[in-house]
Amino acid sequence: MAAKSKGAPNLYGSFIHSAPGAFLASKLGLPQPAELRRYKAGEPALPGPVLLGGKGRLAEPVRALLSDYTVADSLASGTKYGALVFDATGIDSIDALAQLFEFFQPAMRSLAPSGRVVVLGTTPELVGSVDAQIAQRALEGFTRSVGKELLRGATSQLVYVHPDAGAAATGVESTLRFLLSGKSAFVDGQVIRVGAADSVAPASWDKPLAGKVAVVTGAARGIGATIAEVFARDGATVIVADIPAAGEALSDTANKIGATALALDVTAPDAAERLADFATERFGGIDIVVHNAGITRDKLLANMDEGRWSSVINVNLAAPHRITSGLVAKGVLKEGGRVIDVSSIAGIAGNRGQTNYGASKAGVIGMVDAESPLLAAKGITINAVAPGFIETAMTAAIPVGTREAGRLMSSLLQGGQTVDVAETIAYFASPASNAVSGNVVRVCGQSLIGA
Ligand code: NAD
Repeated sequence: MAAKSKGAPNLYGSFIHSAPGAFLASKLGLPQPAELRRYKAGEPALPGPVLLGGKGRLAEPVRALLSDYTVADSLASGTKYGALVFDATGIDSIDALAQLFEFFQPAMRSLAPSGRVVVLGTTPELVGSVDAQIAQRALEGFTRSVGKELLRGATSQLVYVHPDAGAAATGVESTLRFLLSGKSAFVDGQVIRVGAADSVAPASWDKPLAGKVAVVTGAARGIGATIAEVFARDGATVIVADIPAAGEALSDTANKIGATALALDVTAPDAAERLADFATERFGGIDIVVHNAGITRDKLLANMDEGRWSSVINVNLAAPHRITSGLVAKGVLKEGGRVIDVSSIAGIAGNRGQTNYGASKAGVIGMVDAESPLLAAKGITINAVAPGFIETAMTAAIPVGTREAGRLMSSLLQGGQTVDVAETIAYFASPASNAVSGNVVRVCGQSLIGA
Protein backbone atom coordinates (compact mmCIF):
# COMPACT_ATOMS: atom_id res chain seq x y z
CA MET A 1 0.00 0.00 0.00
CA ALA A 2 0.87 3.68 0.01
CA ALA A 3 4.37 4.40 1.17
CA LYS A 4 4.68 6.56 4.27
CA SER A 5 4.68 10.22 3.21
CA LYS A 6 8.02 11.96 2.89
CA GLY A 7 7.73 14.59 5.59
CA ALA A 8 10.19 16.39 7.81
CA PRO A 9 11.41 14.76 11.08
CA ASN A 10 8.72 14.76 13.74
CA LEU A 11 10.74 16.10 16.68
CA TYR A 12 8.02 16.09 19.33
CA GLY A 13 6.56 12.75 18.17
CA SER A 14 10.00 11.02 18.30
CA PHE A 15 10.76 12.52 21.70
CA ILE A 16 7.43 11.54 23.26
CA HIS A 17 7.79 7.94 22.05
CA SER A 18 11.31 7.59 23.52
CA ALA A 19 11.65 6.16 27.06
CA PRO A 20 12.61 9.48 28.74
CA GLY A 21 10.01 11.34 26.65
CA ALA A 22 7.20 8.98 27.66
CA PHE A 23 8.27 9.26 31.33
CA LEU A 24 8.27 13.06 31.20
CA ALA A 25 4.97 13.12 29.32
CA SER A 26 3.20 11.07 31.98
CA LYS A 27 4.70 13.18 34.81
CA LEU A 28 3.94 16.53 33.21
CA GLY A 29 0.68 15.61 31.48
CA LEU A 30 2.13 16.43 28.03
CA PRO A 31 -0.01 15.58 25.01
CA GLN A 32 0.76 12.11 23.64
CA PRO A 33 -0.02 11.45 19.97
CA ALA A 34 -1.41 7.95 19.39
CA GLU A 35 -0.54 5.65 16.52
CA LEU A 36 -3.64 5.86 14.32
CA ARG A 37 -5.45 2.77 13.05
CA ARG A 38 -5.24 2.83 9.25
CA TYR A 39 -6.92 0.58 6.69
CA LYS A 40 -5.25 -2.69 5.78
CA ALA A 41 -7.08 -5.14 3.50
CA GLY A 42 -8.22 -8.20 5.39
CA GLU A 43 -7.95 -6.64 8.85
CA PRO A 44 -11.08 -6.30 11.02
CA ALA A 45 -12.94 -3.07 10.19
CA LEU A 46 -13.15 -2.06 13.86
CA PRO A 47 -11.23 -2.76 17.08
CA GLY A 48 -14.40 -3.96 18.84
CA PRO A 49 -18.21 -4.19 18.53
CA VAL A 50 -20.49 -1.28 17.58
CA LEU A 51 -22.71 0.03 20.36
CA LEU A 52 -25.83 1.25 18.55
CA GLY A 53 -28.28 3.64 20.20
CA GLY A 54 -31.06 6.11 19.46
CA LYS A 55 -34.66 5.71 18.43
CA GLY A 56 -34.98 7.66 15.19
CA ARG A 57 -35.80 6.57 11.64
CA LEU A 58 -32.25 5.30 10.91
CA ALA A 59 -31.47 2.93 13.79
CA GLU A 60 -33.02 -0.18 12.23
CA PRO A 61 -31.80 0.42 8.64
CA VAL A 62 -28.33 1.13 10.02
CA ARG A 63 -28.39 -2.13 11.96
CA ALA A 64 -29.12 -3.91 8.67
CA LEU A 65 -26.32 -2.01 6.89
CA LEU A 66 -23.89 -3.04 9.64
CA SER A 67 -24.53 -6.76 9.15
CA ASP A 68 -20.74 -7.35 8.66
CA TYR A 69 -20.07 -5.89 12.13
CA THR A 70 -20.87 -7.11 15.64
CA VAL A 71 -23.60 -4.79 16.94
CA ALA A 72 -24.63 -4.43 20.59
CA ASP A 73 -27.67 -2.58 21.96
CA SER A 74 -26.65 -2.06 25.55
CA LEU A 75 -23.48 -1.12 27.34
CA ALA A 76 -21.72 -4.08 28.92
CA SER A 77 -19.15 -3.36 31.61
CA GLY A 78 -15.63 -4.33 30.67
CA THR A 79 -16.29 -4.29 26.89
CA LYS A 80 -14.25 -1.91 24.73
CA TYR A 81 -16.37 -0.78 21.80
CA GLY A 82 -14.95 -0.13 18.34
CA ALA A 83 -17.64 2.48 17.72
CA LEU A 84 -20.53 4.30 19.38
CA VAL A 85 -23.16 4.96 16.72
CA PHE A 86 -26.20 6.99 17.71
CA ASP A 87 -29.30 7.66 15.64
CA ALA A 88 -30.24 11.20 16.68
CA THR A 89 -32.86 11.70 13.96
CA GLY A 90 -35.57 11.22 16.59
CA ILE A 91 -34.35 14.27 18.55
CA ASP A 92 -36.97 16.87 17.70
CA SER A 93 -36.81 19.28 20.64
CA ILE A 94 -34.32 20.87 23.00
CA ASP A 95 -35.51 18.59 25.82
CA ALA A 96 -34.86 15.54 23.67
CA LEU A 97 -31.16 16.43 23.46
CA ALA A 98 -30.96 14.69 26.86
CA GLN A 99 -30.88 11.44 24.83
CA LEU A 100 -27.31 12.30 23.80
CA PHE A 101 -26.24 12.62 27.42
CA GLU A 102 -27.99 9.40 28.40
CA PHE A 103 -26.33 7.34 25.68
CA PHE A 104 -22.84 8.81 25.51
CA GLN A 105 -22.02 9.84 29.07
CA PRO A 106 -21.80 6.28 30.50
CA ALA A 107 -20.13 4.97 27.31
CA MET A 108 -17.31 7.51 26.91
CA ARG A 109 -14.74 5.44 28.83
CA SER A 110 -15.67 2.27 26.94
CA LEU A 111 -14.38 3.32 23.51
CA ALA A 112 -11.36 1.37 22.22
CA PRO A 113 -8.21 3.18 21.00
CA SER A 114 -8.84 4.54 17.47
CA GLY A 115 -12.55 3.99 18.13
CA ARG A 116 -15.28 5.94 16.37
CA VAL A 117 -18.19 8.09 17.47
CA VAL A 118 -20.75 8.63 14.71
CA VAL A 119 -23.96 10.61 15.29
CA LEU A 120 -26.64 10.43 12.60
CA GLY A 121 -29.00 13.39 12.33
CA THR A 122 -31.40 14.97 9.85
CA THR A 123 -30.30 17.95 7.71
CA PRO A 124 -31.44 20.78 10.03
CA GLU A 125 -32.81 23.16 7.35
CA LEU A 126 -35.05 20.39 6.03
CA VAL A 127 -36.64 19.02 9.22
CA GLY A 128 -39.75 21.20 9.00
CA SER A 129 -40.17 22.36 12.62
CA VAL A 130 -38.40 25.13 14.48
CA ASP A 131 -37.80 23.00 17.60
CA ALA A 132 -36.41 20.09 15.59
CA GLN A 133 -34.17 22.39 13.52
CA ILE A 134 -32.66 23.88 16.67
CA ALA A 135 -32.11 20.44 18.21
CA GLN A 136 -30.57 18.98 15.04
CA ARG A 137 -28.21 21.94 14.72
CA ALA A 138 -27.10 21.33 18.31
CA LEU A 139 -25.68 17.96 17.26
CA GLU A 140 -22.83 19.76 15.52
CA GLY A 141 -21.48 21.36 18.69
CA PHE A 142 -21.91 18.08 20.54
CA THR A 143 -19.97 15.89 18.08
CA ARG A 144 -17.18 18.42 17.59
CA SER A 145 -16.76 18.76 21.37
CA VAL A 146 -16.72 14.98 21.80
CA GLY A 147 -13.91 14.91 19.18
CA LYS A 148 -11.90 17.28 21.34
CA GLU A 149 -12.34 15.08 24.42
CA LEU A 150 -11.54 11.70 22.88
CA LEU A 151 -8.04 10.29 23.39
CA ARG A 152 -5.86 7.57 21.82
CA GLY A 153 -6.69 8.23 18.18
CA ALA A 154 -10.48 8.02 18.52
CA THR A 155 -12.59 10.38 16.38
CA SER A 156 -16.11 11.82 16.31
CA GLN A 157 -18.26 12.76 13.31
CA LEU A 158 -21.80 13.86 12.47
CA VAL A 159 -23.72 12.69 9.41
CA TYR A 160 -26.80 14.69 8.40
CA VAL A 161 -29.12 12.54 6.30
CA HIS A 162 -31.76 14.06 3.99
CA PRO A 163 -35.26 13.54 5.44
CA ASP A 164 -36.44 11.99 2.14
CA ALA A 165 -33.80 9.20 2.20
CA GLY A 166 -35.47 5.85 1.50
CA ALA A 167 -36.53 3.59 4.35
CA ALA A 168 -33.47 1.35 3.84
CA ALA A 169 -31.15 4.39 4.07
CA THR A 170 -28.77 2.79 1.54
CA GLY A 171 -27.25 6.17 0.65
CA VAL A 172 -25.69 6.30 4.13
CA GLU A 173 -23.76 3.06 3.80
CA SER A 174 -20.59 4.27 2.05
CA THR A 175 -20.31 7.17 4.52
CA LEU A 176 -20.77 4.94 7.53
CA ARG A 177 -18.28 2.36 6.30
CA PHE A 178 -15.72 5.09 5.60
CA LEU A 179 -16.13 6.73 8.99
CA LEU A 180 -15.96 3.45 10.93
CA SER A 181 -12.89 2.21 9.06
CA GLY A 182 -9.22 3.09 9.37
CA LYS A 183 -9.63 4.99 6.09
CA SER A 184 -10.92 7.98 8.06
CA ALA A 185 -7.98 7.90 10.53
CA PHE A 186 -7.18 11.65 10.23
CA VAL A 187 -10.77 12.88 9.68
CA ASP A 188 -12.13 14.23 12.96
CA GLY A 189 -14.92 16.56 14.07
CA GLN A 190 -16.49 16.64 10.60
CA VAL A 191 -20.06 17.05 9.39
CA ILE A 192 -21.01 15.14 6.24
CA ARG A 193 -24.30 15.67 4.46
CA VAL A 194 -25.90 12.73 2.67
CA GLY A 195 -28.68 13.30 0.15
CA ALA A 196 -31.90 11.36 -0.43
CA ALA A 197 -30.71 9.10 -3.27
CA ASP A 198 -30.48 5.35 -2.78
CA SER A 199 -27.15 3.66 -3.51
CA VAL A 200 -26.13 0.21 -4.63
CA ALA A 201 -23.33 -1.49 -2.72
CA PRO A 202 -20.31 -2.29 -4.93
CA ALA A 203 -19.63 -5.97 -5.74
CA SER A 204 -16.63 -5.71 -3.39
CA TRP A 205 -16.10 -3.01 -0.75
CA ASP A 206 -12.35 -3.68 -1.16
CA LYS A 207 -12.46 -2.87 -4.92
CA PRO A 208 -15.21 -0.24 -5.18
CA LEU A 209 -13.64 1.50 -8.19
CA ALA A 210 -13.41 -1.60 -10.40
CA GLY A 211 -14.20 -0.66 -14.01
CA LYS A 212 -13.81 3.10 -13.42
CA VAL A 213 -11.42 5.46 -15.22
CA ALA A 214 -9.88 8.07 -12.92
CA VAL A 215 -7.67 11.09 -13.63
CA VAL A 216 -5.46 12.59 -10.91
CA THR A 217 -3.65 15.87 -11.60
CA GLY A 218 -0.40 16.74 -9.83
CA ALA A 219 0.24 13.02 -9.35
CA ALA A 220 4.03 12.93 -9.77
CA ARG A 221 4.58 13.15 -6.02
CA GLY A 222 3.02 13.95 -2.64
CA ILE A 223 -0.70 13.64 -2.07
CA GLY A 224 -1.45 13.15 -5.79
CA ALA A 225 0.86 10.13 -6.11
CA THR A 226 -0.85 8.51 -3.10
CA ILE A 227 -4.35 9.23 -4.48
CA ALA A 228 -3.31 7.40 -7.66
CA GLU A 229 -2.01 4.45 -5.58
CA VAL A 230 -5.20 4.21 -3.54
CA PHE A 231 -7.36 4.42 -6.69
CA ALA A 232 -5.33 1.59 -8.27
CA ARG A 233 -5.68 -0.47 -5.08
CA ASP A 234 -9.45 0.10 -5.25
CA GLY A 235 -9.56 -1.27 -8.79
CA ALA A 236 -9.61 1.89 -10.97
CA THR A 237 -7.80 2.43 -14.27
CA VAL A 238 -5.73 5.51 -13.48
CA ILE A 239 -4.39 8.36 -15.61
CA VAL A 240 -1.75 10.35 -13.73
CA ALA A 241 -1.05 13.89 -14.98
CA ASP A 242 1.61 16.43 -14.06
CA ILE A 243 3.73 19.18 -15.62
CA PRO A 244 6.28 18.08 -18.24
CA ALA A 245 9.16 19.05 -15.89
CA ALA A 246 7.98 16.38 -13.42
CA GLY A 247 8.11 13.71 -16.15
CA GLU A 248 10.53 11.32 -14.47
CA ALA A 249 8.70 11.27 -11.12
CA LEU A 250 5.41 10.93 -13.00
CA SER A 251 6.67 7.85 -14.87
CA ASP A 252 7.81 6.36 -11.55
CA THR A 253 4.33 6.86 -10.05
CA ALA A 254 2.70 5.40 -13.15
CA ASN A 255 5.01 2.37 -13.38
CA LYS A 256 4.59 1.52 -9.71
CA ILE A 257 0.82 1.09 -10.00
CA GLY A 258 0.28 0.33 -13.69
CA ALA A 259 -1.18 3.77 -14.44
CA THR A 260 -0.94 5.78 -17.68
CA ALA A 261 1.08 9.00 -17.52
CA LEU A 262 0.09 12.23 -19.26
CA ALA A 263 2.37 15.29 -19.31
CA LEU A 264 -0.13 18.10 -18.80
CA ASP A 265 0.15 21.60 -17.39
CA VAL A 266 -3.37 22.14 -16.03
CA THR A 267 -3.12 25.88 -16.76
CA ALA A 268 -2.61 25.36 -20.51
CA PRO A 269 -5.58 26.87 -22.38
CA ASP A 270 -6.19 23.53 -24.16
CA ALA A 271 -5.73 21.36 -21.01
CA ALA A 272 -9.37 20.17 -20.91
CA GLU A 273 -9.29 19.31 -24.61
CA ARG A 274 -6.01 17.40 -24.38
CA LEU A 275 -7.18 15.45 -21.37
CA ALA A 276 -10.54 14.72 -23.02
CA ASP A 277 -8.92 13.50 -26.26
CA PHE A 278 -6.35 11.38 -24.41
CA ALA A 279 -8.89 9.71 -22.11
CA THR A 280 -11.44 9.16 -24.87
CA GLU A 281 -8.92 7.56 -27.24
CA ARG A 282 -7.39 5.29 -24.62
CA PHE A 283 -10.30 4.49 -22.32
CA GLY A 284 -13.53 5.81 -23.85
CA GLY A 285 -14.05 8.61 -21.29
CA ILE A 286 -13.58 9.53 -17.64
CA ASP A 287 -15.55 8.55 -14.52
CA ILE A 288 -13.55 10.37 -11.84
CA VAL A 289 -11.45 13.54 -11.95
CA VAL A 290 -9.37 14.71 -9.01
CA HIS A 291 -8.04 18.27 -9.19
CA ASN A 292 -5.08 17.80 -6.89
CA ALA A 293 -2.38 19.88 -8.66
CA GLY A 294 -1.64 22.86 -6.45
CA ILE A 295 1.09 25.35 -5.64
CA THR A 296 1.96 27.88 -2.94
CA ARG A 297 3.81 31.15 -3.60
CA ASP A 298 3.73 32.73 -0.14
CA LYS A 299 4.41 36.43 0.57
CA LEU A 300 2.75 39.04 2.71
CA LEU A 301 0.29 40.86 0.47
CA ALA A 302 2.27 44.11 0.85
CA ASN A 303 5.30 42.38 -0.72
CA MET A 304 3.54 40.17 -3.25
CA ASP A 305 4.18 40.51 -6.98
CA GLU A 306 1.53 39.91 -9.59
CA GLY A 307 3.17 36.66 -10.76
CA ARG A 308 2.80 34.99 -7.35
CA TRP A 309 -0.81 36.09 -7.15
CA SER A 310 -1.90 34.96 -10.59
CA SER A 311 0.04 31.66 -10.75
CA VAL A 312 -1.59 30.41 -7.54
CA ILE A 313 -5.09 31.48 -8.62
CA ASN A 314 -4.55 29.90 -12.04
CA VAL A 315 -3.23 26.50 -10.92
CA ASN A 316 -5.40 26.04 -7.83
CA LEU A 317 -8.72 27.54 -8.92
CA ALA A 318 -9.07 28.65 -12.54
CA ALA A 319 -7.65 25.42 -14.00
CA PRO A 320 -9.89 22.99 -12.08
CA HIS A 321 -12.93 25.09 -12.92
CA ARG A 322 -12.05 25.25 -16.62
CA ILE A 323 -11.19 21.55 -16.86
CA THR A 324 -14.37 20.37 -15.12
CA SER A 325 -16.50 22.61 -17.33
CA GLY A 326 -14.68 21.38 -20.47
CA LEU A 327 -15.01 17.68 -19.58
CA VAL A 328 -18.69 18.05 -18.72
CA ALA A 329 -19.50 20.10 -21.83
CA LYS A 330 -17.88 17.47 -24.07
CA GLY A 331 -19.64 14.63 -22.23
CA VAL A 332 -16.24 13.04 -21.55
CA LEU A 333 -16.96 13.04 -17.81
CA LYS A 334 -19.63 10.38 -17.87
CA GLU A 335 -23.07 10.41 -16.33
CA GLY A 336 -22.67 9.38 -12.68
CA GLY A 337 -19.17 10.89 -12.71
CA ARG A 338 -17.22 12.21 -9.75
CA VAL A 339 -15.37 15.52 -9.39
CA ILE A 340 -13.15 15.88 -6.35
CA ASP A 341 -11.35 19.12 -5.55
CA VAL A 342 -8.55 19.74 -3.10
CA SER A 343 -9.07 22.77 -0.88
CA SER A 344 -7.13 23.46 2.34
CA ILE A 345 -7.80 24.57 5.89
CA ALA A 346 -6.05 27.79 4.76
CA GLY A 347 -9.08 28.30 2.51
CA ILE A 348 -11.34 28.06 5.57
CA ALA A 349 -9.32 29.97 8.17
CA GLY A 350 -7.07 32.15 6.02
CA ASN A 351 -3.34 32.17 6.61
CA ARG A 352 -0.72 34.90 7.02
CA GLY A 353 1.35 35.20 3.85
CA GLN A 354 -1.20 33.21 1.84
CA THR A 355 -3.75 35.72 0.52
CA ASN A 356 -3.32 34.16 -2.93
CA TYR A 357 -3.51 30.55 -1.68
CA GLY A 358 -6.34 31.27 0.80
CA ALA A 359 -8.38 32.94 -1.94
CA SER A 360 -7.78 30.04 -4.34
CA LYS A 361 -8.68 27.35 -1.80
CA ALA A 362 -11.80 29.21 -0.56
CA GLY A 363 -12.74 29.59 -4.23
CA VAL A 364 -12.51 25.79 -4.52
CA ILE A 365 -15.17 25.56 -1.80
CA GLY A 366 -17.26 28.03 -3.78
CA MET A 367 -16.85 25.80 -6.82
CA VAL A 368 -18.25 22.82 -4.88
CA ASP A 369 -21.20 24.91 -3.61
CA ALA A 370 -22.00 26.35 -7.03
CA GLU A 371 -21.45 23.30 -9.21
CA SER A 372 -23.01 20.62 -7.01
CA PRO A 373 -26.65 21.50 -7.89
CA LEU A 374 -25.76 22.02 -11.58
CA LEU A 375 -23.94 18.69 -11.98
CA ALA A 376 -26.67 16.80 -10.11
CA ALA A 377 -28.78 16.80 -13.27
CA LYS A 378 -26.18 14.46 -14.83
CA GLY A 379 -25.79 12.36 -11.70
CA ILE A 380 -22.31 13.83 -11.25
CA THR A 381 -21.21 14.59 -7.69
CA ILE A 382 -18.66 17.20 -6.65
CA ASN A 383 -16.98 17.34 -3.24
CA ALA A 384 -13.74 18.62 -1.78
CA VAL A 385 -11.23 17.63 0.83
CA ALA A 386 -9.59 20.35 2.90
CA PRO A 387 -6.32 18.90 4.20
CA GLY A 388 -4.71 20.29 7.32
CA PHE A 389 -1.11 19.50 8.17
CA ILE A 390 -0.10 16.59 5.93
CA GLU A 391 3.48 15.22 5.92
CA THR A 392 4.72 16.12 2.41
CA ALA A 393 7.48 18.07 0.68
CA MET A 394 5.15 21.10 0.91
CA THR A 395 4.95 20.99 4.72
CA ALA A 396 8.60 19.89 5.14
CA ALA A 397 9.50 23.35 3.80
CA ILE A 398 7.74 25.09 6.73
CA PRO A 399 10.10 26.50 9.44
CA VAL A 400 10.64 24.00 12.29
CA GLY A 401 8.73 25.85 15.06
CA THR A 402 5.65 26.45 12.94
CA ARG A 403 5.85 22.88 11.69
CA GLU A 404 5.86 21.33 15.18
CA ALA A 405 2.99 23.66 16.21
CA GLY A 406 1.07 22.68 13.06
CA ARG A 407 1.29 19.03 14.05
CA LEU A 408 0.33 19.51 17.69
CA MET A 409 -2.49 22.03 17.32
CA SER A 410 -5.08 19.36 16.59
CA SER A 411 -7.16 16.84 18.50
CA LEU A 412 -5.04 13.96 17.14
CA LEU A 413 -1.78 15.76 18.08
CA GLN A 414 0.07 14.88 14.86
CA GLY A 415 0.31 15.54 11.15
CA GLY A 416 -1.61 13.36 8.72
CA GLN A 417 -0.23 11.05 6.03
CA THR A 418 -0.92 11.51 2.33
CA VAL A 419 -2.92 8.28 2.46
CA ASP A 420 -5.43 9.94 4.82
CA VAL A 421 -6.31 12.52 2.15
CA ALA A 422 -6.33 9.84 -0.55
CA GLU A 423 -8.73 7.57 1.37
CA THR A 424 -11.20 10.44 1.84
CA ILE A 425 -11.03 11.19 -1.87
CA ALA A 426 -11.57 7.49 -2.65
CA TYR A 427 -14.70 7.58 -0.45
CA PHE A 428 -16.10 10.48 -2.52
CA ALA A 429 -15.10 8.64 -5.72
CA SER A 430 -16.95 5.45 -4.85
CA PRO A 431 -20.03 4.62 -6.94
CA ALA A 432 -21.75 3.94 -3.59
CA SER A 433 -21.27 7.64 -2.68
CA ASN A 434 -23.77 8.89 -5.26
CA ALA A 435 -25.84 10.51 -2.48
CA VAL A 436 -22.79 12.47 -1.27
CA SER A 437 -22.35 15.80 -3.07
CA GLY A 438 -21.56 19.38 -2.12
CA ASN A 439 -19.42 18.44 0.90
CA VAL A 440 -16.11 19.84 2.06
CA VAL A 441 -14.50 17.39 4.46
CA ARG A 442 -11.44 18.49 6.38
CA VAL A 443 -8.68 15.91 6.70
CA CYS A 444 -6.91 17.67 9.52
CA GLY A 445 -7.12 15.65 12.76
CA GLN A 446 -9.54 18.36 13.99
CA SER A 447 -6.93 21.09 13.67
CA LEU A 448 -7.59 24.17 15.76
CA ILE A 449 -6.89 26.27 12.68
CA GLY A 450 -10.20 27.26 11.15
CA ALA A 451 -12.11 25.03 13.56
P1 NAD B 1 3.30 18.83 -3.87
O1 NAD B 1 3.95 20.12 -4.16
O2 NAD B 1 4.10 17.75 -3.22
O3 NAD B 1 2.67 18.21 -5.22
C1 NAD B 1 1.91 19.00 -6.12
C2 NAD B 1 2.05 18.43 -7.50
O4 NAD B 1 1.30 19.28 -8.40
C3 NAD B 1 3.50 18.41 -8.01
O5 NAD B 1 3.81 17.14 -8.53
C4 NAD B 1 3.50 19.49 -9.09
O6 NAD B 1 4.43 19.24 -10.14
C5 NAD B 1 2.05 19.44 -9.57
N1 NAD B 1 1.69 20.68 -10.28
C6 NAD B 1 1.97 21.95 -9.93
N2 NAD B 1 1.54 22.80 -10.87
C7 NAD B 1 0.97 22.05 -11.84
C8 NAD B 1 0.36 22.35 -13.08
N3 NAD B 1 0.27 23.61 -13.52
N4 NAD B 1 -0.12 21.34 -13.84
C9 NAD B 1 -0.01 20.05 -13.41
N5 NAD B 1 0.57 19.70 -12.24
C10 NAD B 1 1.05 20.69 -11.47
O7 NAD B 1 2.01 19.19 -3.00
P2 NAD B 1 1.11 18.30 -2.02
O8 NAD B 1 1.47 18.64 -0.62
O9 NAD B 1 1.10 16.89 -2.45
O10 NAD B 1 -0.31 18.98 -2.29
C11 NAD B 1 -1.29 18.45 -3.16
C12 NAD B 1 -2.56 19.27 -3.02
O11 NAD B 1 -2.97 19.30 -1.65
C13 NAD B 1 -2.38 20.74 -3.42
O12 NAD B 1 -3.56 21.18 -4.07
C14 NAD B 1 -2.20 21.44 -2.09
O13 NAD B 1 -2.56 22.80 -2.16
C15 NAD B 1 -3.14 20.64 -1.21
N6 NAD B 1 -2.85 20.72 0.23
C16 NAD B 1 -1.72 20.19 0.77
C17 NAD B 1 -1.51 20.27 2.14
C18 NAD B 1 -0.30 19.66 2.82
O14 NAD B 1 -0.22 19.71 4.04
N7 NAD B 1 0.64 19.07 2.11
C19 NAD B 1 -2.43 20.93 2.96
C20 NAD B 1 -3.56 21.48 2.37
C21 NAD B 1 -3.76 21.36 1.00
